Amino acid sequence: MENQGTRRCRVVLVPPPFQGHITPMLQLGAILHSKGFSITVAHTEFNAPDSSKHPEFFFLPLSDNVSDIDSSFWNLLEVITAINVNCKEPLQRYLVQMMEKQEPHDQVCCIIYDSIMYFTDAVANHMKLPSIILRTTCAFNFVAWHATPRLLAEGYIPLPESLSNELLPGLHPLRSKDLPFTGTGELELLEELRKIRSSAAVVWNTVDFLEHSSLLQLQQQYQIPIFSIGPLHKMAPALTTSLLKEDTSCVAWLDKQAPNSVIYVSMGSLAMVDKKELTETAWGLANSDQPFLWVMRAGLVDGSDQCVDLLPKDLKEKIGERGHIVKWAPQKEVLAHRAVGGFWSHCGWNSTLESICEGVPMICRPGFSDQKVNSRFLTHIWRVGLEMENVVERRGIERAIRRLMVEKEGEEMRQRANELGQKFKFCVQKGGSSYNSLNDLEEFILSQSSSLPK
Ligand code: UDP
Repeated sequence: MENQGTRRCRVVLVPPPFQGHITPMLQLGAILHSKGFSITVAHTEFNAPDSSKHPEFFFLPLSDNVSDIDSSFWNLLEVITAINVNCKEPLQRYLVQMMEKQEPHDQVCCIIYDSIMYFTDAVANHMKLPSIILRTTCAFNFVAWHATPRLLAEGYIPLPESLSNELLPGLHPLRSKDLPFTGTGELELLEELRKIRSSAAVVWNTVDFLEHSSLLQLQQQYQIPIFSIGPLHKMAPALTTSLLKEDTSCVAWLDKQAPNSVIYVSMGSLAMVDKKELTETAWGLANSDQPFLWVMRAGLVDGSDQCVDLLPKDLKEKIGERGHIVKWAPQKEVLAHRAVGGFWSHCGWNSTLESICEGVPMICRPGFSDQKVNSRFLTHIWRVGLEMENVVERRGIERAIRRLMVEKEGEEMRQRANELGQKFKFCVQKGGSSYNSLNDLEEFILSQSSSLPK
């Protein structure tokens, strides 16, 4: 339990139950805790973070009633909608109890919630508490989301397949197939996610120099402060945020490999591939002659707990010791390892930031949502990634791996990724943009607390 004596005031964090969102929220919590704030994490019961790993935080489980709903990838919209309905009352009830008992030195001063937990706005208003939104995707993703009414009016959504490679007006460098949604079915939810509602500010896990014009555009639109304080994993003290158990055996395996020789393969916590893609990827990796570390998460292939069992026997023999397969890796440690020279990725925003920070160039195999936007920026703006086209087959994979890992093109990308990683380091150091923005955020939260009724 935390020491309350020297704390300033209490910030309540509301993350949604997804790895790529829980991690940045807990990192933000650790940062604010190091600045003297007390932290309460109000979380769903579904995919709850491990409270024993964070004795410095207080945890509030919200009964979400989603245990009867299919929580597979294909049903995420329903899960998100149900959480937003079901968690409102428990959060409000907890806050009432907390605030009735709170000591003067431990007042709740604000609520920070992930865009996905949009019900929080109504709770904060009811409690007369200021709220701040945490955004865990790149800023351009929201620029694209905000453009949906215009794109709908101009007839770009839904677009016929024949135009999927067309560049979208006003959204350079996106083509219509890079839009961060797949059809009109998601638009209602996106509308909820992009609203600012009554929030006092937005915190963004991004870096100013990387997305300066997008941030400026959003700032003008929102008319409230935006604090870009990323990459959060470099701003925060080290902490464990994995919902799955990390298999650290891969680090000893990496220790035995030559510098920059290993391609790390991971599709993050939600993306799925079909059995054909799994097999083609495996053949491509096997034929590339490069060592590889591959994360085969349970459920990566629909319904399969042991995806490795789906690989043909002759293929496993060909791979031999050259490939190491785990169910979940300590990814940040892996990317920072000297042996890792490339990342075959689904391009989730955390993975993107983590890879750039370590100067690791990528093969981009985006699946859905913001991953397509990130991939387009990685390949066409920051030029630290190779685009893997939709048809994933062994020869194309083998070729992409060679281009990235052994050819001059890949070496140049590694060079650019290293330069970007260096710039990130400056941003988080004293005087850097994220460092300064975090100080501004701290002041901002304190200024909000001083206007609360005593
Ligand atoms: N991750 C990990 N081990 C793995 C795969 C992923 O620790 O084997 C972490 C990764 O470091 C990142 C997060 O899971 O912080 C995935 O977030 P991201 O935004 O990249 O993708 P998402 O899972 O949300 O699609």
